[in-house]
Amino acid sequence: MTFFIKTYGCQMNVSDSEKIYSLLEQSGFDAAPNDLDADLIIVNSCAVRQKPQEKIYSYIGRFSIEKIVILAGCVAQVERDAAFRHRRSPDFIVGTHQFHRLPEIIDTLKKRRQRGERLGFTRAWQELVPAFTARSSRVTAYLSVMEGCNNFCSYCIVPFARGREKHRPFSAIMAEAAELSRLGYPELILLGQNVNAWRDDREGISFPALLDRLARSTGFHWIRFITSYPGYHDPALFEVIANHRCIARHIHFPAQSGSTRILRRMNRTYNRNDYLRIIDEFRRLFPGFGFSSDFIVGFPGETEKDFTSTLTLLHRVQYNSIFSFVYSPRPRTAACRWSDPVPLDRKKERLHRLQQLQAEIQLANNRRLIGQATEVLIVEANPKRAGEMIARTESYRVVNLETNRPEGEFTTVEITAAGPHSLRAREINS
Ligand code: SAH
Ligand code: SF4
Repeated sequence: MTFFIKTYGCQMNVSDSEKIYSLLEQSGFDAAPNDLDADLIIVNSCAVRQKPQEKIYSYIGRFSIEKIVILAGCVAQVERDAAFRHRRSPDFIVGTHQFHRLPEIIDTLKKRRQRGERLGFTRAWQELVPAFTARSSRVTAYLSVMEGCNNFCSYCIVPFARGREKHRPFSAIMAEAAELSRLGYPELILLGQNVNAWRDDREGISFPALLDRLARSTGFHWIRFITSYPGYHDPALFEVIANHRCIARHIHFPAQSGSTRILRRMNRTYNRNDYLRIIDEFRRLFPGFGFSSDFIVGFPGETEKDFTSTLTLLHRVQYNSIFSFVYSPRPRTAACRWSDPVPLDRKKERLHRLQQLQAEIQLANNRRLIGQATEVLIVEANPKRAGEMIARTESYRVVNLETNRPEGEFTTVEITAAGPHSLRAREINS
């Protein structure tokens, strides 16, 4: 039996798919090169916004009933029985904490082709380490440290899709990190919905202490972590970063809005000033420190004044990059029951203005880098230009360059040209 995994959504989902791939390979299934050739399709889903969720059902709808389709992950978790009310519904749904049961489920399905079953949450951390062969990148080693969320931001489905926070034990993290370092990955990225909420109470270890231990005992050139919730920022992080040059001078730090009034309605636990104080401290201690963020535009009741506060936040912080979305009402969240007088066209127009402004900010800052020398990590061949590679800077900027070096190597370049979303560079012989 051959399988194919289709992944939607965030880096956590990519990482979960690597775990599923590992499990199936170890259980004797073979990976198919594409979905058409596979007997079994696993759709690892994302429920954060409505539109991507619809795309998932239309993807499932493409397959004949000869194939087994398993809907796994966030949509499976939140939709449950509703997932079976489609013309071509999945054969089985597996929630976000039952991946380890997939081999057994597939065996049963093969025998009985029973339809319409579902599995949900467990409360404990499920220890599943992807095998090397299952990992999607040879450059970046992704390592899950926590999962789930206790925050209940008023727009967000994640606590319903992923359950409450589950923290991976310190010893398991250290063991996997040591193995990944031994395998020679240049870059480590720690993953968690709110990665900086991680802690190991039994060992008495906080998130900054974890970073410190990882930086001390592994050989990664760059260590990163996504996503940090601003309300959980621990000032002890500053000292750990200062002590270790291998902790990248960049943080993904989602603000969501620049308006304190909207942040309160979103149930975020920080305000604009708290957020800016942390940004300023990073910049004071580490000049040139880079920031990226997520923003939701058109949250219920967002006025033009609130929106302007978000624009002024972009000006003030000068992010290297942002992800921005129009607010999408999600079932079971608090905000989906609120009245929302702002028309969708106005929201889309605001999103456009936000992205326009950010593109201008990025272009101006990227142009300032022309002529500067910087270290980059080569991540992949440029699929659009033969002989060219795509690389990243420490602050996660995209750099295109001509080089014979393979992915995974570092090199020093001089920036020669700049656009809003990427840089061009030439290698400096050193
Ligand atoms: N835990 C992280 C974010 C995880 S969800 C944090 O709190 O910052 C990833 C991103 O999806 C969010 O940052 C948010 O910008 C976006 N998002 C979540 N729910 C959304 C919704 N209902 N509509 C639009 N965007 C949403
Ligand atoms: Fe969603 Fe808020 Fe949790 Fe982030 S912190 S995952 S936005 S509920």
